Amino acid sequence: MPQFWVVGEPNADGSISKLSTEVATLASTLAAAAGGEATGIVVAATPERAAGELAAFLPRVIAVADPALAGHAWSVPAAEGVAAVLAAEGDTDGTVLLGAGPDGRDLAGTLAALTGRGVLANATAVAWDGRLVVEMGAFGGKLITSSGFTGTGGIVTVRPNMVTAEPLPVAGTVEPRAAAADAALPRVAVVEQVEEAGAAAPIEEARIIVSGGRGIGGPDGFELVRELAGQLGGAVGATRAAVDSGWIPYSQQIGQTGKIVKPNLYLALGISGAIQHKVGMQTAETIVAINRDPDAPIAEFADLLVVGDLFEVGRALMVALRERSG
Ligand SMILES: Cc1cc2nc3c(=O)[nH]c(=O)nc-3n(C[C@H](O)[C@H](O)[C@H](O)COP(=O)(O)OP(=O)(O)OC[C@H]3O[C@@H](n4cnc5c(N)ncnc54)[C@H](O)[C@@H]3O)c2cc1C
Repeated sequence: MPQFWVVGEPNADGSISKLSTEVATLASTLAAAAGGEATGIVVAATPERAAGELAAFLPRVIAVADPALAGHAWSVPAAEGVAAVLAAEGDTDGTVLLGAGPDGRDLAGTLAALTGRGVLANATAVAWDGRLVVEMGAFGGKLITSSGFTGTGGIVTVRPNMVTAEPLPVAGTVEPRAAAADAALPRVAVVEQVEEAGAAAPIEEARIIVSGGRGIGGPDGFELVRELAGQLGGAVGATRAAVDSGWIPYSQQIGQTGKIVKPNLYLALGISGAIQHKVGMQTAETIVAINRDPDAPIAEFADLLVVGDLFEVGRALMVALRERSG
C-alpha cells in the first residue's frame, strides 16, 4: 500500500506551520487517489501542539519528543528523527513530503543522505497517476517538467500555496514517541536569534498583499505601497520589473520565478499582469488593480480594475482607510 509521510514543521511558538497543513492536505489527496495511507511526523523538543494541529489534516500523526532539540537548529536532528520513525515503521519505499521552505529544504537534503532516497525539489504540483508525478519549474520557470522516482521511495519538497489546506471531517490521532537516544549527527546550538530590522511580513502567509510594479516609478514610490499595506495589515509584494530595478528585495517578488501567494485580497498598483506575474497571484480570492491603462492584461482577470493614476487613487484610498479606522 503506498505510504505518504508528511514532515510537520513547528513554528517558533510551537504551532504547526501553514505550509505543513497544505502539504498534509496534498498527502491526504494523494493517499486517497493511490489507495494508500498518509501519516504525519513531527519532531520537536515539545511536539504536542504542532502534532495536535497537524492531526486536524491527517488521520495519524507521530509526535517525536526530543528535549535535546531545545536551543538547537531544527532541521538536521529533525531529519534524524524522521529517518528513525521511517526505520521503526519498516518503511523503505514511501514518499516523504515536506514544505520547500529553508528548513524543509535542509531537512530534505539530510534525509536523502540518511535514507538513500532521491529528492524532487520545489514541486509546483504533485499528482498520482498510477505512480507519483511531480511538476517542477526549470530554467528560471521557462520550462515545466514532470518527473517521477525510478527507485523505491522518494522525498518531495512542495512550494507554498500550491494547495489549500482543508481539515479532515474527523481529526486524526497523535502517537507520542520518545526520540532515540543515540543521535549521531552533530547538533548546532543556536546562541542568538536576531530579528531582521524592518523585515517585511512573510508574503506567503499574508491574507492581504499590496503589490507594486514598474508603474510605481522608483524606490520612493514603494512608500505608498508600504503605507497601504501597513494600514490594511498586509504585506508588500512586487513584480520582477520592480525587483530587477532594485526598488525592493527579491524576497518580495511574486510570480513564476518568485513566490506563489494566495491572499484574500491582492491590491496591484502599476502592474500590467504579465503571465509570469499572474501565475504567482491568480489564486488570490479578490484581485483589485489600479492601472492607468484600461486595456492592461490584468483587466482580464482582476475582480475590480480602477482606471487612473496609482498615486492619485492610492492616496485617496489611504485617506479613506485612515478615516475609517478613526
Ligand atoms: C522566465 C521569466 C520569468 C519571469 N518571472 C517573473 C516573476 O516571477 N514575477 C514577475 O512579476 N514577472 C516575471 N517576469 C517578467 C514579466 O514577464 C513582466 O515583465 C513583469 O511582470 C512586468 O512587471 P510590471 O507589471 O511591473 O511592469 P510593466 O509590464 O511595465 O507594467 C507596468 C504597468 O504600470 C502601469 N502604470 C504605469 N504608470 C502608472 C501610473 N502612474 N498609475 C497607474 N498605472 C501605471 C502601466 O499601464 C502598466 O500596465 C518573468 C519573465 C520571464 C521571461
